Amino acid sequence: PKDKIKILLLENIHIAAIKQFEEQGFQVESISSSLPEDKIIEKIKDVHVLGLRSKTKVTEKILSEAKRLLAIGCFCIGTDQVDLIEAEKKGVPVFNSPFCNSRSVAELIICEIITLSRKLGDRSTEMHNKIWRKESANCHEIRGKTLGIIGYGHIGSQLSVLAEAMGMSVLYYDIARRLPLGNSKMCPDMKSLLENSNFVTLHVPDTKETVGLIGEEEINTMKKGSYLLNASRGKVVQIPHLANALRSGHLAGAAVDVYPEEPSANCKDWECELQKCPNTILTPHIGGSTEEAQEAIGLEVSDLIIQFINSGASAGSVNFPEITLPVSPSTHRILNIHNNKPGVLRDINNILSEFNVSAQVLSTRKQIGYIIADVDSEASKEIKKKISSLPNSIKTRVLY
Ligand code: NAD
Repeated sequence: PKDKIKILLLENIHIAAIKQFEEQGFQVESISSSLPEDKIIEKIKDVHVLGLRSKTKVTEKILSEAKRLLAIGCFCIGTDQVDLIEAEKKGVPVFNSPFCNSRSVAELIICEIITLSRKLGDRSTEMHNKIWRKESANCHEIRGKTLGIIGYGHIGSQLSVLAEAMGMSVLYYDIARRLPLGNSKMCPDMKSLLENSNFVTLHVPDTKETVGLIGEEEINTMKKGSYLLNASRGKVVQIPHLANALRSGHLAGAAVDVYPEEPSANCKDWECELQKCPNTILTPHIGGSTEEAQEAIGLEVSDLIIQFINSGASAGSVNFPEITLPVSPSTHRILNIHNNKPGVLRDINNILSEFNVSAQVLSTRKQIGYIIADVDSEASKEIKKKISSLPNSIKTRVLY
């Protein structure tokens, strides 16, 4: 029964998610802060779904106490705060929402392109320091300027459309072949993008190849008087070389939202070599931080969890085999998570073969396998009992 399902939400998850869970009839407890390990352990024993953001650590110890846990929802982008391997071993899928804030980041970049072009950051700081400096030298409209986008994924491609609407020309470079949107043009290599852009903005993921992607040589390849923007990941830009280029005037400005080392909480004495560089906008990793993005994240992650609870669909999980199967009304559904060992499928199918199975899907990933089978409703209890007693079974559920 749905009213037996307990959802514990930490870190002030958006009301949109709470409403969706409540509409399902689930019991929801929402706490505005994170909780330390011992407090979570006290609560986790009868919790079916744990929802959190970036501040809650889900450790092996918590997971070993979480006897009823069906799923974890990270209502954010990252999932490093959860021990994913342990969750996988326990048969607990972890869901997140990697792309819900793309629009927020794209809008911030548009704002920053104009801010840099008009040197608004420096003017505003001066005014706060009682200095009235009215200038038009080296201040420009963005119309007709070229924006170079490195990484043409969810954010890069949306930004491309917005920038063209503002009258910019767009070049992009991506390691994958991406369809150009609007009138944007793909560059055959990063060098040609760097040579031909007035603004270069980075929207690549954090990978081995992107660490230090923009260093001395790349910055020197950029036009004199051009601008660099990074709201992707902190290690993509070699900060000392960027700081040099800003101080020397080779670059006319930069906007940086992400850093190689970021404090885990708000702090008062944060230091970075870019502080005091001219026309340099520094923001504390707020590219995706809007109310709209939070709501979209709340809706997406709660949708994924509801689907998993109601139908077993694991699509969108980061540590689990992803399968879905349309629900058929007259059958019962067996869900089984098992150790991915040779012979397991034979054992499961030996049990199922005695009964009438109307649909079945299986997928494996690393250590575990996940199978959904729709069976005659009269037989489901017996099948569940038999399958859950197999030595390699981790978790078995029946959906009515
Ligand atoms: P995405 O996966 O949709 O797109 C990334 C693109 O980069 C892909 O098209 C991929 O092919 C391309 N790419 C990968 N390696 C590349 C390389 N070496 N050179 C060129 N292109 C390469 O990701 P997204 O949602 O657009 O996010 C982009 C980045 O923005 C990610 O690093 C993400 O973490 C970051 N992000 C930051 C914030 C923030 O608050 N500042 C918010 C959301 C996302």
